[in-house]
Amino acid sequence: MDSFDTTLATGTDRSAAAAEPAEIGHWIGGQVAAPVAGARRSPVFNPATGAVTGQVALAAADEVDAAVRAAAKAFPGWAATPPLRRARVMFRFRELVEQHADELAACIVAEHGKVFSDAKGEVTRGLEVVEFASGIPQLLKGEFSEQVGTGIDMYSIRQPLGVCVGITPFNFPVMVPMWMFPVALACGNSFVLKPSERDPSASLLIARLLREAGLPDGVFNVVQGDKEAVDALLTHPSVAAVSFVGSTPIAKYIHATASRHGKRVQALGGAKNHMVVMPDADLDQAVDALIGAAYGSAGERCMAISVAVAVGDVADRLVARLAERVPRIRVTQGMDRAAEMGPLVTRAHLDKVRGYVDAGVAEGAKLVVDGRGLQVEGHEEGFFLGGCLFDGVKPGMRIYNEEIFGPVLSIVRADSFETALRLVNEHEYGNGCAIFTRDGDAAREFANRVQVGMVGVNVPIPVPMAFHSFGGWKSSLFGDHHMHGPEGVRFYTRLKAVTQRWPAGIRAGAEFVMPTMK
Ligand code: NAD
Repeated sequence: MDSFDTTLATGTDRSAAAAEPAEIGHWIGGQVAAPVAGARRSPVFNPATGAVTGQVALAAADEVDAAVRAAAKAFPGWAATPPLRRARVMFRFRELVEQHADELAACIVAEHGKVFSDAKGEVTRGLEVVEFASGIPQLLKGEFSEQVGTGIDMYSIRQPLGVCVGITPFNFPVMVPMWMFPVALACGNSFVLKPSERDPSASLLIARLLREAGLPDGVFNVVQGDKEAVDALLTHPSVAAVSFVGSTPIAKYIHATASRHGKRVQALGGAKNHMVVMPDADLDQAVDALIGAAYGSAGERCMAISVAVAVGDVADRLVARLAERVPRIRVTQGMDRAAEMGPLVTRAHLDKVRGYVDAGVAEGAKLVVDGRGLQVEGHEEGFFLGGCLFDGVKPGMRIYNEEIFGPVLSIVRADSFETALRLVNEHEYGNGCAIFTRDGDAAREFANRVQVGMVGVNVPIPVPMAFHSFGGWKSSLFGDHHMHGPEGVRFYTRLKAVTQRWPAGIRAGAEFVMPTMK
């Protein structure tokens, strides 16, 4: 087997099961905080081997309180630091992330299971948000109006909120936190990250790199945990804002609970992304796009394509081509250079995804490629599932209505563009979607009328760049702001408008009517 070298800068081999599971703690006030005596713990697995490689601490309310207090204490000093200096910390952090990119990626592979090159891509997409945040002096420039009245000027500025919280999912343990904290910190906030308990280690490496970049202690903190830690964050009186990315039921809960406790909230939820393939599409391009977008990262991407809507006579040709390609996807552990798809994150998730495949068969969809029998030699205990392909999927089936979050692609046949568009618009989720066509009219009409937040035209995974903003519609986002880019700056700041007059201006004496400009 030709593998990437996993003995990285730290000298630790992240791909192998360590003899003793590592203890994974919190990061509070600029240092590792070991779990308190009697703390609950949760096992962390290497999904490729099934072995337990770590025990992550699950914070209780008093540990969460310690992290929030550290962040609240650090906030005034950091907020008063000139944006230019905050940007310089981001510049240094950027360099450090680049230097440690292999180590971060190996850490992702070891706990998430995705393939190394994909993990490197995740680090790069996170890094782009750091690059965006490095321009914060420009992004925070306010507006100024001279002479709004005689001798009166007015300006508006954006100021940080205070302690901001990020609660993140397992599927992008580096990129999704980096959608949040670089912008939050650059805007002058302090931050508490609650990563997924399934792949918690990358968060601690990030914390170390931020400290090395010169971020003052307490400005960035990590609490590991589950619902108990999340609830303590959502209700803590010193928390100003909550950013969440995860599944829709939890996103709804986060939005409702944090809003009820007076926080600003953005909560991004699940997805069921459709790709419409028109009869005139370049079939080679569409098939390549579907293979990568449906099976990359074992389908555990919120922007994965899980439904292909085949319009008209393209369906038979598309299904035949996919049926030939899907079984050839190279599925193995993520540090193997040949790997195209790794395992699912946990056994529980593997069982859930297999359950959907069973349900699809029971509901009458045609299972064209069945990946349930896949065995990866030498990794028999790993959480692997081969790519699965369904044809004849219809609205109402669970495999169509619900998010599967695994390597399962459903083909729905539609007789026309209008039917395809209606399918997308009637679906509960509205995260991403794509159309493949050579027809500019059809593409323009689709982009204009589709009820989805992120749209690709011959681009299967239209993840906006860091200087635009990321977010879905309908049950894929609760709250008002998308993430990173200009929307991120708006979310992590509040607006203040100042109207000023100096003593040399006109003195009108006391006025008892609503001021109007003269
Ligand atoms: P999840 O909702 O199970 O967990 C997300 C976070 O919420 C984790 O930190 C977890 O500890 C916490 N959490 C879980 N249950 C909770 C509860 N009952 N109360 C409070 N907090 C709780 O999601 P996941 O399985 O880690 O990630 C996969 C999901 O995330 C998928 O649905 C995927 O579509 C979604 N996702 C969405 C986006 C997006 O941008 N819209 C991006 C990535 C992932």
